[in-house]
Amino acid sequence: MEKSMMDQDILKVLYTEEEIAQRIREMGRQMYEDLKDKEPLFVSVLRGAFIFMADIVRACQVRCDVEFIAVSSYGNATSTSGAVQITHDIQQDISGRHLVVIEDILDSGNTLHFLKQYFLTKGAASVTICTLLDKPSRRTKAIHADYVGFEVPDEFVVGYGLDYAQKYRNLPYIGVLKPEVYTK
Ligand code: 5GP
Ligand code: MG
Repeated sequence: MEKSMMDQDILKVLYTEEEIAQRIREMGRQMYEDLKDKEPLFVSVLRGAFIFMADIVRACQVRCDVEFIAVSSYGNATSTSGAVQITHDIQQDISGRHLVVIEDILDSGNTLHFLKQYFLTKGAASVTICTLLDKPSRRTKAIHADYVGFEVPDEFVVGYGLDYAQKYRNLPYIGVLKPEVYTK
């Protein structure tokens, strides 16, 4: 395929569209075995996890429902501010439900640490964490992901839902931007 304008900003591809699809099929099969009797509620963290959510729920054919939560994030910078704020909350009572939080990337752990406590406080029976990417080298909060797609090095990645300044989310692969893109 011809290189798009966005492709030209990419320094290197970490995971291709095919590699992501293959890994999600594997994760979905494993999650199916673990969750099939739980009628889980999948909660996607907007906006970064919207594409992963669409793919993982189809790879995991359990009886389930879906919800979306939005939290404040990086703004246009590439490092976190620490504080987490809910900007859009889920729309139903979760007491007694088995939640599966679907996240794009686990970095410092702030977001998922906060959300796990939040959902448990609201009465969830369990909170399982499923993240496509994990950057363990940057962790500052004790938080464990139950399902991880890929472990990534300490580099800022974009694509497959992940943005830089709200762009690049629609790249079908995951890659690293050229340094000059940040200074444009
Ligand atoms: P944490 O709260 O674990 O530090 O960060 C979680 C959020 O930070 C992710 O949901 C994601 O939105 C953002 N984030 C962390 N690392 C990256 C990255 O390498 N690229 C992008 N685009 N977002 C990231
Ligand atoms: Mg996110």
